Amino acid sequence: MASKTLIWFRQDLRVNDNPALHQAALDGEVVAIFVEAQKQRKQHHESSAKVGLIYDSLLELRAALNELNIPLHIQCCDYFDDQIETIKAFVDDNGISAVYFNNEYPINELERDATLKSVLEGMNVEVNRFDGDLALEPNLVKNKQGDPYKVFTPYKKAWINVHKQSPFEPLKPPEKQSYSIKEQATEDFPAEYREDLWPAGESAAYERLDKFLSKVESYKKTRDIPSVSGTSCLSPYLAIGAISAKQCMHALLEYYDGDEEKLYGDTWFSELVWREFYRQVLIDNPELTKHKPFNPDAAEVWADNQEAFEAWKEGKTGFPIIDAAMRQLNQTGWMHNRLRMNAAMFLNKLCLVDWRWGEKYFMESLIDGDFASNNGGWQWCSSTGADGAPYFRIMSPLSQSERFDPDGDFIRKLVPELKDLDKKSIHNPSSEQREKTGYPEPIINYKESRKRALELLG
Ligand code: FAD
Repeated sequence: MASKTLIWFRQDLRVNDNPALHQAALDGEVVAIFVEAQKQRKQHHESSAKVGLIYDSLLELRAALNELNIPLHIQCCDYFDDQIETIKAFVDDNGISAVYFNNEYPINELERDATLKSVLEGMNVEVNRFDGDLALEPNLVKNKQGDPYKVFTPYKKAWINVHKQSPFEPLKPPEKQSYSIKEQATEDFPAEYREDLWPAGESAAYERLDKFLSKVESYKKTRDIPSVSGTSCLSPYLAIGAISAKQCMHALLEYYDGDEEKLYGDTWFSELVWREFYRQVLIDNPELTKHKPFNPDAAEVWADNQEAFEAWKEGKTGFPIIDAAMRQLNQTGWMHNRLRMNAAMFLNKLCLVDWRWGEKYFMESLIDGDFASNNGGWQWCSSTGADGAPYFRIMSPLSQSERFDPDGDFIRKLVPELKDLDKKSIHNPSSEQREKTGYPEPIINYKESRKRALELLG
């Protein structure tokens, strides 16, 4: 009798370039499962927007798998321990001989997977683990002494060297299976998200990638202008694995007709390598999952400034560019990268609010919430992280606003009470204009706050 294999889908909701699925289908009659651990996700502060995107993407994934004669069972439970029980019961009930999954790197996930492995092996069930989340397998990019890189630029250089020696091709979907689908368990866990902005699934991710590639050469110029749609907006799809980093890089290489030097010199490619870097930093420093600063000597000077935190969350700080950023996050589940840096530095350095408060709020709100990139981004901004910004780098909301939103178009869209202001005063309305429009006074004095931050952080 042919063996029955189980692919456990987690953060890899795609049929293409999915190493665990690919191998499971080669090794036997494959069945797929997804087990939503609702309370665990809450404990990890993941947003309802991300859960919504996952749910709808699962339905698309099921349709794609069913085309290949692979059933997808969707089940719900509370915590990671219950996921283990669910998989164990499924394996038992269905005579599964081998389980396949792609690794996730935060510590709770690693511990869960290690427990599952020993439980299943105790039942004589084989466990096969793969790495589908990074474009290059983890731990390949090390310095000459075999130690991990702590700084991005040499990491990227070494990454390119590894890639030159072993270029990759994304995997194709598995062949259509000869077994027919008997039944598939289903559960709903719908959540609120902007479906109009974030159509679900693998096919939506490819459409977005194709559209973005047609303008990738202007990315370098437009990526910092939030009023222009100059970036790929692929982060939600990368976060849930509806598309892989390898597929993105490979598509970019094809766009450059296979010219690797053009790939390596491309700015968008570099951003994808930042994603790899933060994942590797997390793998090398699992204690980051416990929200420890990467740099143990980092100054811990945070004030219990609840009032500033609330104003920041609501987009009512009185700094138009910061408020526009936070309102973009609250309304769409996504924030432009330039504004993530500004919003984070404003909260952390200018209001002296603990970066972990902001990190948590971002996770709770972002549709692309991703532990490694979010923690990396917050620790970069607060100068506590791997290759963090120097402590004296504090973005000025006013000059950043004038530079990256010169006509105030972005502010006008997100802070409609200021829409009639001219392009100079929209960045910093006068008291009179604030009173007239109902827009708040600034919650901090920029110059004084900057001076205080430099004294405390230096
Ligand atoms: P593009 O500019 O099109 O870039 C392509 C892809 O490269 C992105 O989708 C993303 O996967 C990756 N990428 C780009 N910039 C970075 C970066 N600085 N670090 C790591 N990967 C990057 N990104 C997340 O995916 N999830 C998060 O939770 C997250 N939190 C962040 C928090 C802070 C404080 C900061 C400063 C950055 C954070 N980022 C996060 C990184 C970055 O802001 C987003 O990846 C980017 O804005 C997503 O938009 P895009 O897909 O259009 O990016």
